[in-house]
Amino acid sequence: MEFLHTLLHELVSFLGIRRLLEMYQTGDYHALLTFDGVLSAISPVIPFLLLLEIGRALVYKRFRIEDYKMPFIIFVANRFISRFLSIAAVAFCIGFFEKYSLFKTSFTWYWFIYGYIVWEFSHFLYHFWGHKVRLFWCLHSTHHTPQTMNLTVSYAHFFLEAPYADVIRTTVCILAGINPPLLFFIMFIDGTWGAFIHVGEGILKNGRLGFLNNIILTPSHHRVHHARNPLYMDTNFCNLLNIWDKVFGTFQHEKKETVIEYGITREMNPNNFFDVYFGEFYCLWKDLKKAPGIRNKLLYIVMPPGWSHTGDHKTAKIVKKAYLEEEHAHAHDQEPLPLQTPQAV
Ligand SMILES: [Zn+2]
Ligand SMILES: [Zn+2]
Repeated sequence: MEFLHTLLHELVSFLGIRRLLEMYQTGDYHALLTFDGVLSAISPVIPFLLLLEIGRALVYKRFRIEDYKMPFIIFVANRFISRFLSIAAVAFCIGFFEKYSLFKTSFTWYWFIYGYIVWEFSHFLYHFWGHKVRLFWCLHSTHHTPQTMNLTVSYAHFFLEAPYADVIRTTVCILAGINPPLLFFIMFIDGTWGAFIHVGEGILKNGRLGFLNNIILTPSHHRVHHARNPLYMDTNFCNLLNIWDKVFGTFQHEKKETVIEYGITREMNPNNFFDVYFGEFYCLWKDLKKAPGIRNKLLYIVMPPGWSHTGDHKTAKIVKKAYLEEEHAHAHDQEPLPLQTPQAV
């Protein structure tokens, strides 16, 4: 009985319906008119969409346990420790940096816009470094290991990634004067949208959301981010407003002719928890062992994934450059020579 009770408790908190259940039990729905009440009504959207996605896959007999198993195991592994560390990191950064903030903002619509732009910048920083600094890639790569896209992918993170992300994001935002209630509100929207952009092709086939694809970051853009195709690697780091990708030149639309291949570039077993969770640490360890001298060892830790002390780099930047050059050369080959006489084919 005790076990069933714990299970029910877990399910209620996973679905985010505790407040709604309370309202249902007391019959008092007034809370829905408050700010908190509205948030509690939005919280269950992602878990329900996830259930819908799985239900749909079951009905159409497209359900493959491998697509969901690993993110679920990771979710359970992270359930307590990661969340606890993350809350502690946010609380610490607010307490430590608030006195150094440039100025103070209040909870108004114009500070909300300012706050969101700053938040996106801090998110861009954390995410960009997560791809460009080998040690941080070890923390972030777990999120890129799934070979298909579905809502459970938003739960697939290494347990130290959330604290790492929150230290950077909270520090930047607090220093830029965003007050904590406004920051929590932005975090809530960011978290909900950040989960939604992992919606699978089963529910949203092209994920472009119509005209919104030209204004904000859509599931289609985030699918591009999860792709290992050379053209798509290390693009679309933003979450909702993709202004910073446009500013820093990392923005990439999904191209019809370049079909997305999900996952990371190294050989790995996506169904092995240890490979998914610690695989990149193991690879870094192997590189550190073979690197001559302390300087090379340190460079392996801070340089982008693919950097090599031998000079034979295979970073995303180099792979993409080679791909684009090849594309370019290929396009030239296809062009008919100007003085060629037309031939019957
Ligand atoms: Zn990423
Ligand atoms: Zn993602």
